[in-house]
Amino acid sequence: MSPISAGLKERCPTCGQGRVFRSFLKFKPACEACGQDFTQADTADGPAFFVGFIVLILFAPFGFIIPLANQPIWVKIILMLILVIITTIASLVMLPKAKSLLMALQIANKAEQARFEDRK
Ligand SMILES: [Zn+2]
Repeated sequence: MSPISAGLKERCPTCGQGRVFRSFLKFKPACEACGQDFTQADTADGPAFFVGFIVLILFAPFGFIIPLANQPIWVKIILMLILVIITTIASLVMLPKAKSLLMALQIANKAEQARFEDRK
């Protein structure tokens, strides 16, 4: 299983079986199926950055279009409220998938902290 599909399915990138989350955005310490250590992966604020960027590209134009629409003010207010709700839901749906995807890519690519090579 590729790390991208495992990440998007919120499954272990090593075996593709075990789930990676124990709650909304909290990783389990290890895979329950194969024992892959999830504590080594640190996605930090990466998922929030990517999700924020995607949501901005998709929904920010409506924040400019709706106020300029030739509609009564109450229609604009309702449309803006719907926009806020949709934006929030889209962010909450994408965030776990982005976090799982970044963790899967870190494990698959053996990404870790930079360090000096051992000197002889
Ligand atoms: Zn596993």
